This record gives sequence, structure tokens and C-alpha cells, in this order.
Amino acid sequence: MNSIPYGRQHIDQDDIDAVVSTLQSDFLTQGPVVKQFEDQFSAYIGAKYAVAVSNATAGLHLANLALGLKKGDRIITTPITFAATANCARYCGAEVWFADIDSDTYLLSLESTRNLIESKPKGFFKGIIPVDFAGLPVNMEAFRALADEYNLWLIEDACHAPGGHFTDSKGTKQMCGNSNYADIGIFSFHPVKHIACGEGGMITTNSEALYKKLSMLRTHGITKENMVENHGGWFYEMQELGFNYRLTDIQSALGIKQLAKNKASVVRRNEIANNYKQAFNGKVKFQNLPDGNLNAHHLFVIEVEDRKGLYDYLRTHSIFAQIHYIPLHTLPYYKEIGYGSADLSHSENYYSKCISLPMYPTLTDDEQAFVIEKVLEFVNGK
Ligand SMILES: *Cc1c(COP(=O)(O)O)cnc(C)c1O
Repeated sequence: MNSIPYGRQHIDQDDIDAVVSTLQSDFLTQGPVVKQFEDQFSAYIGAKYAVAVSNATAGLHLANLALGLKKGDRIITTPITFAATANCARYCGAEVWFADIDSDTYLLSLESTRNLIESKPKGFFKGIIPVDFAGLPVNMEAFRALADEYNLWLIEDACHAPGGHFTDSKGTKQMCGNSNYADIGIFSFHPVKHIACGEGGMITTNSEALYKKLSMLRTHGITKENMVENHGGWFYEMQELGFNYRLTDIQSALGIKQLAKNKASVVRRNEIANNYKQAFNGKVKFQNLPDGNLNAHHLFVIEVEDRKGLYDYLRTHSIFAQIHYIPLHTLPYYKEIGYGSADLSHSENYYSKCISLPMYPTLTDDEQAFVIEKVLEFVNGK
């Protein structure tokens, strides 16, 4: 058996052909293909606007800036996420406070977030950044209600969840990152995620004002919008200090092809998840799936008492499981600056047991059967 990673990209000949034909076109960096990718992505997710960016970290940075986050402001997020979710607020000089996760869904707990907010005076926090961890949708309708009560903004970090959805109280399917409840959604096109562009990200929103601001910040804060008749064709204004966070046409050509395969990819990921669940049911704890949700399954996480033991055992059989994530508040950087937090015992307990098993569309049934066999062998004491 070949070695089995926890995740991997899948590039077809038609992905390659699309990139080659872009290389032969007039545009290499941001050109017409970026706009096509944005349009197709926003249509897929069901958001009004999409802004392609160089990676999701850049997208998170721009999202915080566009929502007005400043030095000394404070945001709340989950400790069980990739560091970029929190770092982006630090780029703006803001403080990052952590609320705990729910121990069955592994998502930021609404109750813990509310408790943290209510332990401080009104106006203490500016925004919340929930994460659709492993691909499981956060109930953004519930977070919106909480955010509105305290006048906070909401960024949905949907990097794990293109194609996932939850069902709101009206019975409507809400795609992750569609921004019907959140102000902004964020996606990543790192090869380990669903859609591979090499590097890449997408910001989604339904607000025209945010869309304009995000587009401008992506390109140095420059706009040609105020061009009037007697200005020359070279005229532009730099209205604020922006960045070069552009995606290229080359990457977008790949992104368009990858996006077209995402629906099938989510179906296959769910097939794999269901096989795992069937094999582990009653024996090994896995992420709970609340009613009305479709988990996009970037990851499949289980919890075991001897996590290090299982990790090492799988490696001896060339199965390269991974751990998602070391809680952010325990990383030296965040430990040292030590902002406040809720009681994070669920996050810490989760981390002591979690391990992510192989989950990607090209994982074969035989490979998966082998993974299941080895996990159960270990859990049952060999
Ligand atoms: C991957 C990831 C990011 C960062 O994405 P990049 O495109 O690598 O910058 C942010 N948040 C989460 C939850 C992620 O998994």
C-alpha cells in the first residue's frame, strides 16, 4: 500500500490545459479570468459579491480592515482553528479573545461566546469570527442574533467548508459563506483545502459598500471610480493605504476548473465520512452532525484516549494522520500576549484526543478500509 496522507489535491488534465491556455493569453496577473472565477464562485455559494485574493489570510486581513477593526479593538474567535483566523485581527493591532468550543460539534460555542460578551461592558468587543471547522457549518443565524444584540460584526471563516450548508429557522438551506447572516465569508484555495489554486482565497459579501472597499484594499487602495471627462486616461486616486493582495489569472483558471468539481468532491467526501461513521459508531467518538446540516468535510476528526499512540501506530503503517489544531491560546505567541478568554476546558480536552484521518476525494475504498482496520486494531488493543 502507498503512503496515505490526511489530505491531498487532485489535478486533472483539464486543470492543466486551462492553466496552459492562460499562460498563452495576454493576461498573467489579474485580468478577465479573475472576474470569471469571482462570478462563478459567488454564484455557487449564493453570495452577491466575491473578491479573489492571494490567499485566505490576506482575505481575513482585508475583511477585518473593511469592517473597521483598529488598534485596541477586540474580537472573539475559537482556539480550535488555523492561526490565520486570529492573526488577521493582530495585523490590525486588535486583541484576540477566545471563547470555548462545543464538545460535540467542535465549533465555537454560542453559549460560551455569549458568556464572554456578557462578562464585559457593552461595546467591549467589535466582532466575532466563527469557523466552519472541519467543514461543519456554524449556525450563522444564531450568531447573527447574538451579534445584533451587541452591535458586533461577523466574519465566517469558511475555509474548510465550500459546498457545506445549514438549514435556518425558516427551513432555508444556507450555504457556508453566503453572507446572508455573516457580513463577510472567507475561503482558502491552499492545495490541502477543497479547491486548489496553489495559493488563493476568496472573500464573499452581500454588501456593495464592503465589496467596493475590499476591491480597493486588494489593489493598494487605488480606484479609478472618480474619473471625470476632462481627466486623462491615466487618472486614478489612492484613497487609502491598501495592499497588493491580488490573485492571478493563472491561478483563477485553475480555480474555475477546480470549482466545477467541488460538488462531486463534497459528495465523495461525505461517502467517505459515512463509511468512517459506520465503522466507528459506538466505538470511537467523531464530530456530531446536527440535523439540516451538510458537512463539507475538509477533515474527518475522531477522538481517542491514546492519541499519540494512534498517531504513531498509523505512521508505522504509512498512514499520515494529522492534528487539527493545537489550541491557539496555548501557542507561545498568544500565551505571551495573554488576552482574556472564557473557560477553554472543552478546547483543551478536545485537543488532547483529536486526530484527523485521511479525507480527500481520491482516497480509494481499499485505502479507506485499510485506515479503518488499523484504527480499530489500535483502539481494540491490537
Ligand atoms: C487554511 C486556513 C486559513 C488560511 O488560508 P490560506 O489560504 O493558507 O491563507 C484560514 N483559516 C482556516 C480555518 C484555514 O483552514
